[in-house]
Amino acid sequence: MELIPIGMSRNGRDVHLARPETIEAFHRMSVAARREKVFLCAIWAYRSPALQREQFREAQHKHGRREGIRWLAPPGFSEHQTGWALDIGDEKDMEADDNPLFERTAAFRWLRTHAAEFGFELSFLAGNWQGVNYEPWHWRYVGTPQARRAFRSVGLRAGLVWGRSFMEAIRRWAMW
Ligand SMILES: [Zn+2]
Repeated sequence: MELIPIGMSRNGRDVHLARPETIEAFHRMSVAARREKVFLCAIWAYRSPALQREQFREAQHKHGRREGIRWLAPPGFSEHQTGWALDIGDEKDMEADDNPLFERTAAFRWLRTHAAEFGFELSFLAGNWQGVNYEPWHWRYVGTPQARRAFRSVGLRAGLVWGRSFMEAIRRWAMW
């Protein structure tokens, strides 16, 4: 998987990486949004398995062993490990980064209308069957056949591959 920088974290400490096609589409989308005075930024992009493990442990610590899974995917099951998933923030509303407040932002309203034009879709809708918390900030790039195949199987918008992994992961981790 080829990964290149998409930008820095707000604190300037981390360089976020993603696949070139994700970045190209995000860039075109950001330019279009900016024309309408909406300022998108990438809060999280690729997450390495090691980082996923660390953050999963933190989420379990914070939300409890079972609830933790609803907040963050177990290692090996995160869309962030594909290089096609982005957590998108509103440059003007840092408080809404990576949490449900993101719904109040101009960025979210704009994305809801326009993201599909650039090949992005919301991964986890409200009440999704994977049992993952609704994440208005978490978008995935499905603009190439390869990306679409990874996330989706015939007739199942949510993506059988990821969905099934999730169910297995939940079972495995819940028994733990
Ligand atoms: Zn995410």
